[in-house]
Amino acid sequence: MKNWKWGFGTVLLAALMSFGTPTKPEWAIAIHGGAGVILKRNLSPEMEKAYRHMLDSALTVGEKVLAKGGSSLDAVEKVIRVMEDCPLFNAGKGAVFSHDGYNELDAAVMDGSNLMAGAVAGVRNVKNPISLARKVMTNSDHVMLSGKGATDFAREQGLEIVDSTYFFTERRWKDLQDAIAKEKANKFGTVGCVALDKAGNLAAGTSTGGMTNKKWNRIGDTPIIGAGTYASNKSCAVSGTGHGEFFIRYTVAREIAALMEYKGMTVKQAADEVIINRLKAAGGEGGVISVDKDGNIALVFNSAGMYRGAADSKGRHEIAIFGNE
Ligand code: ASP
Repeated sequence: MKNWKWGFGTVLLAALMSFGTPTKPEWAIAIHGGAGVILKRNLSPEMEKAYRHMLDSALTVGEKVLAKGGSSLDAVEKVIRVMEDCPLFNAGKGAVFSHDGYNELDAAVMDGSNLMAGAVAGVRNVKNPISLARKVMTNSDHVMLSGKGATDFAREQGLEIVDSTYFFTERRWKDLQDAIAKEKANKFGTVGCVALDKAGNLAAGTSTGGMTNKKWNRIGDTPIIGAGTYASNKSCAVSGTGHGEFFIRYTVAREIAALMEYKGMTVKQAADEVIINRLKAAGGEGGVISVDKDGNIALVFNSAGMYRGAADSKGRHEIAIFGNE
């Protein structure tokens, strides 16, 4: 009888102690499909529906990997491949055109468990640059490969090589003609994914066609580790989208991780500080998705909208596009 009471008391005490301490999710994931001037009035109901549907499908692919105990790296690569194969996003199939009428793709991936990273810049014939970035990380001694050499490596690794016509889409071609007429290089799209897996490992990946009408083999922030992509199990995983030159100069992704590591900020505070305070003041438009080592997610942008989604093992599953959602 005495023992029974003692046991009951312990259970009661444990229950009382855990009351109010929220349990961490076992896994968490966030995605983006680009930030920018995304306003409801500029998006037809059909296009909005298509974007929401694709974001939802991509997020679901990642959720399934993580729920089954798969790695955050696998989730990131699989999700980004889905978005690269979709013409709606500025990555892979939907990539924007450079001034000379090419599609030059950049991508990066980072493993937060060991700080290994892989990136490719300016590739023109690789169907899924995110997979090439992962091969650079795992199967080469390097972090970043570019142009023709990167494509040669992709061929050696058995990745799918496509003719440059694969990347042609009417919509992006029109964008280029508009940008040339206005003598502007526009920002558009980009896709990214960050994830925390059941083993506690973080990973980040980003893939883009860069900016419409870009010249001189311009490379943006996406493939630059610490600028558009970063992951460390010590703090968080980050993927950015926006005006790349600002993300490079403000080392956006690493800065968010550093503010967490050295200043003890939460992931939301750190992302707000960099994106809302510093970047916006400097005139740099864009946003980030980030997940920390405890599964907290921050989706922060200083532009009108950002195609985005977030999910975790505790039942969170949401898709949003506009600023007021
Ligand atoms: N950050 C990308 C770049 O500057 C573009 C984007 O995210 O829309 O290349």
